[in-house]
Amino acid sequence: MPAKKVPSPATAASAPAPAPAGPPGTGLSLVQRALRKLGLVRDIDFALYLPMRYEDETRIVRIADLREGDLGQFEAVVTESEVSYRPRRQLVVTVDDGSDTCQLRFFNFYPSQQKQLAVGARVRVRGEMRGGFIGRQMLHPTIKAAGTALPNALTPVYPTVAGLAQPVLRREVRSGLARAVLDETIPVQIGLRGAWDLRASLSFLHYPTPDVSMAALEDHSHPAWQRIKAEELLAQQLSQMQARLERAAQRAPRLPSSPEPLASSLHAQLLAVLPFGLTGAQQRVGQEITHDLGREIPMHRLLQGDVGSGKTVVAALAAARAIDAGFQCALMAPTEILAAQHFGKLVGWLDPLLAARGLRVAWLTGSQKKKERDQMSAAVESGEAALVIGTHAVISEKVRFKNLALALIDEQHRFGVAQRLALRGKAGGELEPHLLMMSATPIPRTLAMSYYADLDVSTLDELPPGRTPIVTKLVAEHRRDEVIDRIQSQISQGRQVYWVCPLIEESEAVDLRNATETRDELAGTLGDAVQVGLLHSRMPTAEKAAVMAAFTANEIQVLVSTTVIEVGVDVPNASLMVIEHAERFGLSQLHQLRGRVGRGAAASACVLLYAPGDSGRVGETARARLKAMAETSDGFEIARRDLEIRGPGEFLGARQSGAPLLRFADLTTDVLLLDWARELAPVMLEKHPELAQRHIDRWLGTKAEYLKA
Ligand code: ADP
Ligand code: MG
Repeated sequence: MPAKKVPSPATAASAPAPAPAGPPGTGLSLVQRALRKLGLVRDIDFALYLPMRYEDETRIVRIADLREGDLGQFEAVVTESEVSYRPRRQLVVTVDDGSDTCQLRFFNFYPSQQKQLAVGARVRVRGEMRGGFIGRQMLHPTIKAAGTALPNALTPVYPTVAGLAQPVLRREVRSGLARAVLDETIPVQIGLRGAWDLRASLSFLHYPTPDVSMAALEDHSHPAWQRIKAEELLAQQLSQMQARLERAAQRAPRLPSSPEPLASSLHAQLLAVLPFGLTGAQQRVGQEITHDLGREIPMHRLLQGDVGSGKTVVAALAAARAIDAGFQCALMAPTEILAAQHFGKLVGWLDPLLAARGLRVAWLTGSQKKKERDQMSAAVESGEAALVIGTHAVISEKVRFKNLALALIDEQHRFGVAQRLALRGKAGGELEPHLLMMSATPIPRTLAMSYYADLDVSTLDELPPGRTPIVTKLVAEHRRDEVIDRIQSQISQGRQVYWVCPLIEESEAVDLRNATETRDELAGTLGDAVQVGLLHSRMPTAEKAAVMAAFTANEIQVLVSTTVIEVGVDVPNASLMVIEHAERFGLSQLHQLRGRVGRGAAASACVLLYAPGDSGRVGETARARLKAMAETSDGFEIARRDLEIRGPGEFLGARQSGAPLLRFADLTTDVLLLDWARELAPVMLEKHPELAQRHIDRWLGTKAEYLKA
């Protein structure tokens, strides 16, 4: 849905300036293209593009006062200048400022520089001072003519890309900042007061006075930074709350709940055939979903729960509600294996019940034979397929639903915005389907409050009874033999084992080779009685499915995989998981992986193999981080630590590709600012909608639309 267009001086004035002519025929100059890469188009984009650090060119010091490691600037006279060829061609210059001398060395130099550094010249030299047995020295310092005026502010250093030199970027930012309209969007009566308004804060942060505490600039605690972070968080809250309001104006099919005693409802019948009772958390979350489905406003809910907390049942019960109301439901999973597992489970539960109603469960994936696929598509179109399960094939253009009312998305962070949007279009007519997204990565509260403020969140915070806790052990790589013994003992008790190899992102081919070698090595060590299987993302789908089926049937006892992907698999007989190079995984990822074991009654264990590293020190940090895994089995606690260590990227998955990460605010330290923004945003949307819109446009520009998907 298009954003409300409110005429605003900010957006009007910050429209891209007409492009100066670039090389003929290209439209955009190279510089402009590089700027665009950095998201710098409008004047305001430049104004909000803040330095990552600063250089102090405001002072001239004495050579004698610079100690080794100091970054400094002095003016001196060249006393010697010669090209030396030992050990390699270089320009060696000695300068003297009266306090001491310093040698300057250049390995790459132009004749013009040589001229600039001729004996007798007075120059301004800036660089890092090094010691050395021949005395003070600088390598490749920056040289300027002496005596030019000193700047009165620190010099900003901006993040840049190849092809865009720092001085060019500086100039562009300076003129963008000068042109940008920086009037206040936060109404004084409800917002921030004080000297640090937007204009003052930006001017200061681009060109701070030299007396400022560098630490306060670097850790973003300076009041000017506080102001900017507050603005940024406010923009995020506004755009998400606005998305919420827009959704409230949309219509979805109402799916009223049939009264529970009505034993003929699919919902009641499904509850009756489940081989277990629901946990308290499942019941509570079920009620939250039922409440949403009964309304005309499309549901937009995130269901989060630790691995094994039983999200699938909750989803199936929601599907039953939709089917009871006479509508269709779709369940999408990111991989075929995961989709197949859902299908297997849900068909078992639901198919007999649906058959009695002349309905069925359909299966749609990309790898399906055309004939089967056509059949399934026909069933979807006629409405006979009340529940459609599959991969993103479910949302392919060719698939037409009769009346889709509810879309369930498993492992939501693996789906992109575009895919979720496509699903929304499937309801037909004016209606939007309800949306339930599931995630096995618990999202820390602050993250949920900022990045997911447009969603309602339900949490399964209770595991089904009878689970034995997983014992997690850290084992150094050189004790691999002990791990093999452990595997053998599990197998002799009739149990099964996962062995996870790390994903080395640069190359899938290398991953495959590593995994294959590990499989061969394990097969060799464990002997003929043990079957060792291999699962890799590059394998053809049919082959993957066959391996998975063999593992489920215990025809394969040890499954080697690179399978950070297949986190949803459910084989209760597996009691041991070994994760190789555990230090390469995120904590939340490890937590999800280990959730694959401990699903049955047997005592289960997870072994984290880590490489102690050459110096031993690398290994120690890795070990300390991994220790968290052994200390707690609470996914939320682990997520919190992960957020501290690795930042939000890990949790946001596909969401971050559309929604910009916060550039300046840090959710672990800026909780108070986040609270402030959350309080202010609804007030601003209600009382000052035009200012709110301008604030969103200013900060998010075209990106705001993505946030709403
Ligand atoms: P996840 O939340 O990781 O998707 P699943 O839905 O796969 O978890 O559930 C994990 C396992 O627990 C499944 O085998 C499921 O059938 C079982 N399960 C779900 N709810 C309960 C319950 N209330 N009592 C016992 N077992 C349950
Ligand atoms: Mg699941």
